[in-house]
Amino acid sequence: MKIEPVRMCVGCRKRDSKYRFLRFVERDGRLFFDPDYKASGRGVNICPDPDCFERAFRKNLFERALKTKVELPGSCEELIEEVKKLLKDRIVNAVRMGLKFRGVVLGRDAVEAEARRKRLAVVILAEDLSERSKKDISRLNVKKFELFTKEQWGDFLNRKPVGIIGIVDKGLAKKLSLLIEKYVSLNRRGSLDGKK
Ligand SMILES: [Zn+2]
Repeated sequence: MKIEPVRMCVGCRKRDSKYRFLRFVERDGRLFFDPDYKASGRGVNICPDPDCFERAFRKNLFERALKTKVELPGSCEELIEEVKKLLKDRIVNAVRMGLKFRGVVLGRDAVEAEARRKRLAVVILAEDLSERSKKDISRLNVKKFELFTKEQWGDFLNRKPVGIIGIVDKGLAKKLSLLIEKYVSLNRRGSLDGKK
């Protein structure tokens, strides 16, 4: 098995595989999100956790880790929103792309058929899918996420509302899982304060 490189969160100092963290670098004096872990230069890693962002923002631990001056957005919320927007774009693009090469199927019938063929890797359910459908799908032995609404997925994919999305391509499923886990984790506080 390939060993994944380990990094440490600048906020809580937890260690984990680098792909569990969000990476930032300095670009033109600003903090720059590097979603593909490819930007050159010194990077700073942080858990996709609003608490770690809060701590790092308040104490400007980004600057210390990057060993250079970095201008931060006006507030920590703003920084989190920026990252969430980029993650969301990536999630949507990955699903769109998957549809093109049949790495993604839509709707309950297609998803259940793929499950029977043992090809289903991940399922994404719309948050507003009926409890009954959620329960039915939860019987399938695959990783599941709840994300966005049926209406939103319909808009993203340019079709009628979509409640159930199945990922059959393994590489895509892995990539999407990491993106969605981060997005959902960053979203936690946003849903609590109920501001937006
Ligand atoms: Zn952390």
